[in-house]
Formats: sequence, C-alpha cells, structure tokens
Amino acid sequence: MRTNQLLSESVEKLLAWYPAHARDLPWRQDQEPYHVWLSEIMLQQTRVEAVKGYYRRFLQALPDIAALADAPEEQLLKLWEGLGYYNRVRNLQKAARQIMTEHSGVFPGEYAKIRKLSGIGPYTAGAIASICFEQPTPAVDGNVLRVMSRILNDHSCVDLPKVKQRFTEQLAAVYPAGQCGMLTQALMELGATVCVPNGAPRCDACPVRELCIAHEQQTVEQLPVRAEKKKRRIEHRTVFVFLCGDAAAVRKREDKGLLAGLWEFPNLPHTCTPEEAIAWGEEMGVHPTALLQSQERVHIFTHIEWHMTCYFFRCLHQSDGFVWADADALQGQYSLPTAFRLFLPDVLELLNQAP
Ligand code: SF4
Repeated sequence: MRTNQLLSESVEKLLAWYPAHARDLPWRQDQEPYHVWLSEIMLQQTRVEAVKGYYRRFLQALPDIAALADAPEEQLLKLWEGLGYYNRVRNLQKAARQIMTEHSGVFPGEYAKIRKLSGIGPYTAGAIASICFEQPTPAVDGNVLRVMSRILNDHSCVDLPKVKQRFTEQLAAVYPAGQCGMLTQALMELGATVCVPNGAPRCDACPVRELCIAHEQQTVEQLPVRAEKKKRRIEHRTVFVFLCGDAAAVRKREDKGLLAGLWEFPNLPHTCTPEEAIAWGEEMGVHPTALLQSQERVHIFTHIEWHMTCYFFRCLHQSDGFVWADADALQGQYSLPTAFRLFLPDVLELLNQAP
C-alpha cells in the first residue's frame, strides 16, 4: 500500500476512535487559543497529571492574554514554580505582549503568524492552528514521530530534522478538512495512551493495528530509531540552609543562565565538609551555632545533574548579604525551583520548631 493511502486509512480509523477514547482534560473544554497555547507550553517536558493543577491556577490568576501581558515577573515565576524550564513562562509573556501590540489583543489565526510569536515552535504552532483554527497543520512531536515511524515501519532516525520534515509533509497531505483539530488530538492521544513511549505499546487496543506495518512485521520494539543521547554532566554543589529566628536565608539568582531570576538557598559549586561549611557561614556573617542536619540529594536537569550536599544550620545573625524569608514568604512569595524546593519541607519543619 502506498504511504499516502496507508496514512489516509489510518486517519479514518483514528477519527472514528478518538471521540470515545479522549481523556477528559481541562484544556479540552473549548478551542480558545489562549487555553490551548498555555496547555501546550506547560505540557512540554511535563506530565499531564502534573500540569492540571498548574493550568487551573494559572488561568484563575491570569484569565486572558491581556492579564498575562501585564503580570509582574515575580507572579509569573511563582505560578510556574516547580514546572521547570522557566523560559517557557517568560516567552509566554513576551508572546502575550506581541499579541497585544501587533494583533490588537486577538490571537492570530494563521500558522505563519502564530509561528512568529515568542517561544512558539513548529509543534505548538501546528497544534494551535489545527485545534483552534482548523488548519491542516500537523503538530509533530516525539509522540507523533513514534507513531508515524511504527505505522510506516520507517527506520530513519527521528531526531534528524529532515525526517521530521518528511513526516510532517506526509501527514499534512492527509489532514481532513473540517477535522484537523480532531486529528491532531487523536494522534496526541494515541501516542500518550496506546502507542506509548516507555514500555510495550498496547497494540491490542490500537485503532490502526491492522494497518501498522511495524506491528505486522514485529519490528515495534526497534522503533522509533533515535540518536544516541549525550551523557549528562555531573556537578557537585553544597547548599546552605541558614536559619535565624523565624526565617531562612535566600537569595535571587542572576538574570542569565540556568534558573535565571529565581530564588535559591545559598550554595557553592563544589562539595564542602561540615567544617568548610561553618567557615563559609562565618564569612557570610551569619555565625552558625549548630549543625542541625545534613542531606544528600540529586536533581536532574536536561543536560546536567546536581549532586547536592545540604547543611542545615541554626545561626546567630541575619546578615545583610541575604534576604530572610519566613515560612509564609518561602511558600507564597519567593519562586524556589524544584532543585531547592527538595529541602523546603525540612526547612519549614525546622522553622516551626524555632525557639
Ligand atoms: S499497532 Fe502498536 S505499534 Fe502500531 S501504532 Fe498501534 S500501538 Fe503503535
């Protein structure tokens, strides 16, 4: 069977399957571009279950594009706290401001214009244009690459831009007028719930099982073909929880680089012994009086692993070099990324026990 015919028949099966199998997700209640856009950005690198709460809170605080464009950065970062990849939310705001100034506050309906908005790549533009504006623009991400390579039994490396481009064109050629949004979502759903990324796909439950060449030829486990991943770099850090009175020391990270502009517990880019940690506390003017506990934790970023040793000290002085945040401010005001939030439960407990 020719590729085009194979994909056309697969599309028919998918469209018949989707309505009865679509998960009930908060961002599928309507086709409002702001909602679809926000959900797609949040879902990059983040699990659906984790996104649901963030999505609801974000829309409650910033219900429309104008509110997003006007929001203070600290509010944005707090709403995104723990989701990671914080440039995503900064770009969301940049794009909201573009929409306010260049499109009179109305989300543009053409793929080329959507693609020009800050932080919107081909995948997100394809998703918004097809779901919200019924354009035949496939949204090709890792899920769709996996499904395509299996249906077609294509052993090209899906990390190559030319392969992604080819799959995009092949799919665009069979996008059904009037059901573009449904097809985009059906492909996403198949990749997320049936032709899954980790572990064996659920071919028995798959609507395209009879068409899928990889299933027929038993090559499913070999697909998709991926480029070899680079190993993550390991960095050692010492994190200091300085507690004084009812507050802990925090500071703002620089405006550039990893976790730019977020808040952190003070830290050094190497491992310290307890004696060296006490000496650094003296140098910082907090005068540690008791080492309460220490912890070893690992946090994984895309390309880096932080191997952290954290020392919790009771201290004598709230020195000027830090901001001193009480329990309420740590939870409600300062945006601590996940790498540092790992220590927050213990910090809050110790603050609770403060004399
Ligand atoms: S039959 Fe199996 S391998 Fe083929 S698309 Fe369906 S779930 Fe994926």
